[in-house]
Amino acid sequence: MIVRIRADLERLPGYVPGRTVPGAVKLASNEVSLGPLPSVVEAIARAGAEVNRYPDSAATALVDRLADRLDVTPDQIAVGCGSVTLCQQLVQATCGEADEVVFPWRSFEAYPIIVQVVGARQTRVALTPGHGLDLDAMAAAITPATRLVFVCNPNNPTGTPLRRAALERFLDSVPSDVLVVLDEAYREFVTDAEVPDGVELARGRDNVAVLRTFSKAYGLAGLRVGYCVAEPDVAAALRKVYMPFSVNSVAQAAAIASLDAEDELLARCRDVVAERERVRAELLSVGFEVPETQANFVWLPLGERTQAFNEHCLENKVVVRAFAGEGARVTIGTREENDTFLSAARSFTA
Ligand SMILES: *Cc1c(COP(=O)(O)O)cnc(C)c1O
Repeated sequence: MIVRIRADLERLPGYVPGRTVPGAVKLASNEVSLGPLPSVVEAIARAGAEVNRYPDSAATALVDRLADRLDVTPDQIAVGCGSVTLCQQLVQATCGEADEVVFPWRSFEAYPIIVQVVGARQTRVALTPGHGLDLDAMAAAITPATRLVFVCNPNNPTGTPLRRAALERFLDSVPSDVLVVLDEAYREFVTDAEVPDGVELARGRDNVAVLRTFSKAYGLAGLRVGYCVAEPDVAAALRKVYMPFSVNSVAQAAAIASLDAEDELLARCRDVVAERERVRAELLSVGFEVPETQANFVWLPLGERTQAFNEHCLENKVVVRAFAGEGARVTIGTREENDTFLSAARSFTA
């Protein structure tokens, strides 16, 4: 090697995407199983006819639409090429190399990678024995060097939610110059009224930012568009570190068409939620431990049995997301897909 690559990248864990195995049911990436609605496909086709032009870098129409929908001002919204990119922009906007990011672990796989790529320091806070975020420990982990805290609610990959009282107490305890990022990638699957809406929680709290995405409930994972709702100065900082044009014109059009079809898409989410409850009850009844979940997936804390479970599922043509030595995350798919998974799970004997 002649060019000098940053030495610390040697130690960077790669982001492991869910595997796609031909002929198998893919329940590894928390996508929705059903394809885009016809109206959304049409909007994509229309936008496709104009891709000789650069996209609107400010995504004005989408931002205005979201502001209206969420009852915030457009200057409180920043869009990104998936909310994972917004996670990176948030760290870039707040941290230099002496600064620190606190996040729960295990949680969203991208957090440690992003923090290291940006070049900040990281503090991982273990989950509770019940596989939820340990907010007391997270509050205790904040130091004068802390600039940002990720709070994933519900948590990926465990599905566990944080409820209003606990979250408000935590937010009250965080110093006002530390940004708390509520990552709500799975918000649309939340049914427990005690799990607060982050955008509501953030009203009147200048140090709270909320991340949402079109990838999960809205079924646009392949197009890459997410958004952040924050206080105007924070949103402005995100726009400064935005990679110009990275939310492309097709994604912008599809996101707007998805908001137009929101009722239909949210009805699909309700079907997923009903299936989630069925799948969890079935797994519990055959003896699996399954933490409560408010997302579109279940978590099986199988510990050392995780790899064997993963292989058993693959033999039965089901792809799940395994974290060796910890557990397996299984996305809720269609009824048929879930039945295929359940029959694999029932025949797991290790
Ligand atoms: C899927 C996911 C995201 C990112 O999704 P994008 O496709 O980048 O919008 C962000 N946070 C969590 C916790 C996720 O699970």
